[in-house]
Amino acid sequence: MSEQQVAIVTGASRGIGRAICKKLASKKIHIVLNYTTNEDAAKETQRWCELEGVRVVLVKADVSKQEDCEYLIEQAKTITGKIDILVNNAGISRDSLLIRAKCEDFEAVINTNLRGSFYCMKLVTAIMLRQRSGKIVNMSSVIGIHGNAGQVVYSASKAGIIGMTKSLAKEVAKKGITVNAVAPGMIMTDMTKVLPEQTLAQIKSEIPMGFAGDPEDIANAVAFLVSDDARYITGQILSVDGGMAI
Ligand code: NAP
Repeated sequence: MSEQQVAIVTGASRGIGRAICKKLASKKIHIVLNYTTNEDAAKETQRWCELEGVRVVLVKADVSKQEDCEYLIEQAKTITGKIDILVNNAGISRDSLLIRAKCEDFEAVINTNLRGSFYCMKLVTAIMLRQRSGKIVNMSSVIGIHGNAGQVVYSASKAGIIGMTKSLAKEVAKKGITVNAVAPGMIMTDMTKVLPEQTLAQIKSEIPMGFAGDPEDIANAVAFLVSDDARYITGQILSVDGGMAI
């Protein structure tokens, strides 16, 4: 492996994670591409990235499980020898009003979105502290900032990401490591395509810019935060949402 940078991107088989991988690959950054079930989609993302001439390593791991996170980071270390960038992107939603929400849904969403990011940050931060360099970007959401009826559990996970991002940024600021989050608004992916037409129309009507974003809009923000152009930025939550969070 050359001196090119290496990025771990979780939940990278499709959607926003795929766009992040493609964007980082276009910057000649090697990719450790994590997915959990959808191997065909992960391989397609891999093929796209390899067209940029970078190395892409697929790692099947469920980030809600501590042992899988350990496996992911071990694989990344073995294959690349170093970790420059971690993007905690893997996420799920199980939406319902609180009174109908099931405890299993709470556990699944918190374990994947919040606990998974916690595990990966903890393992990677130890490596970055030894390197005295690194960039971490966590995926929050406009829902973690403003909340939303029907998304109590999801918003708890995404608000938790904001707290973890700010706190870790303070812990490691003097060690050459930046920690930021991106808070997407409405982005068209498999996660949002399942929403009923009426809900989609309602959400779109609340976007000041008047249209939903593409995964590439989020990938561009991540690419900026992990670039040298963002070297003096840490602990920030960058909203990429057409103005929803204003
Ligand atoms: P998506 O299209 O549903 O893709 C989810 C990705 O996460 C897939 O690659 C999936 O892998 C992976 N994943 C799910 N559970 C996982 C687990 N336990 N371990 C490892 N990987 C797992 O979602 P998306 O819209 O791209 O969302 C990406 C992130 O952005 C999420 O954190 C989401 O909460 C956040 N976000 C999205 C929006 C939006 O409007 N889309 C808005 C705000 C925030 P498999 O393919 O293998 O299942």
